[in-house]
Amino acid sequence: EKAQMAAAREERILVLVRLRPLSDKEIVANEVSDWECINDNTILYRNTLREGSTFPSAYTFDRVFRGDCLTKQVYQEGAKEIALSVVKGVNSCIFAYGQTSSGKTYTMDGITEYTVADIFDYINRHEERAFVLKFSAIEIYNEVVRDLLSSDNTQLRLRDDPERGTIVEKVTEESLKDLNHLKELLAICEAQRRIGETSLNERSSRSHQIIRLTIESSAREFLGKENSTTLAASVNFIDLAGSERASQALSTGTRLKEGCHINRSLLTLSTVVRKLSKGRQGHINFRDSKLTRILQPCLSGNARTAIICTLSPARSHVEQTRNTLLFACCAK
Ligand code: ADP
Ligand code: MG
Repeated sequence: EKAQMAAAREERILVLVRLRPLSDKEIVANEVSDWECINDNTILYRNTLREGSTFPSAYTFDRVFRGDCLTKQVYQEGAKEIALSVVKGVNSCIFAYGQTSSGKTYTMDGITEYTVADIFDYINRHEERAFVLKFSAIEIYNEVVRDLLSSDNTQLRLRDDPERGTIVEKVTEESLKDLNHLKELLAICEAQRRIGETSLNERSSRSHQIIRLTIESSAREFLGKENSTTLAASVNFIDLAGSERASQALSTGTRLKEGCHINRSLLTLSTVVRKLSKGRQGHINFRDSKLTRILQPCLSGNARTAIICTLSPARSHVEQTRNTLLFACCAK
């Protein structure tokens, strides 16, 4: 039965939900939480003030994580298996979806670090192969792709390669040395993402960030020989724009433009995800947005996908929390 479950899970998208705790600020503001994870799979909405309202109160997913769960647990029990399929040559994507301030970046940074630590561990235990672990980071803002590791702000172009699918031209790739190196690179990305921000969280709430780890490996005995074959695969960590952008109609100027583009990427992602969840065959509209175009090689074929939906517990955020859960239900 366990094997059957695993097989079923491999085809589908793994949908995880993570509730964050109330922040100190929210507690001071007398916020309360109406959400409770009643077991490993079900999150319940209970607000006696809303009794009799029409929206469902119990939501079931592959796994739900309570507010007091550590990121390490979310990694080990949720994302690890999919993220580490990269060492076997299988591409994957791990998304964080949720409204601004729900914990996307907090969750993804932690998961990226645990993954890299495990990859280094794996590399050290398999000395029969030579490995290179590469790191790249891009931001998609307004359907414009930028390199988060480069200080010149030029736009990166996408090119279609007959063998590798869509590639991001001239993107900086760093060979990862160790865990500290990763932390330095993540800090650079965070700083780059904040350039142009006028208020806290503004730009990062409107842009998508893709961190890609690529492993290339070849058997040492064949190194440099003609019959050496290189195995390459990528795991992508996608910190999505705040999901409130998908539902919010913005009214003026650049904001409208930003709103539309973000809508396009997030909306395309939700249709793509809905189709993927029904199986990876048939036509899927990857080309309708930059985000899905770039990720196509890591979403199709035998690729693995996990979506971590992050939730704010605060009563004042209940509408956005519900929207996130509805998206999560569509992905199942
Ligand atoms: P987002 O990226 O979705 O906008 P952040 O990851 O920046 O949200 O989280 C917002 C705030 O909440 C940050 O200060 C972060 O440290 C904190 N936070 C998020 N998730 C958790 C959690 N599970 N446990 C403790 N603090 C969290
Ligand atoms: Mg963030």
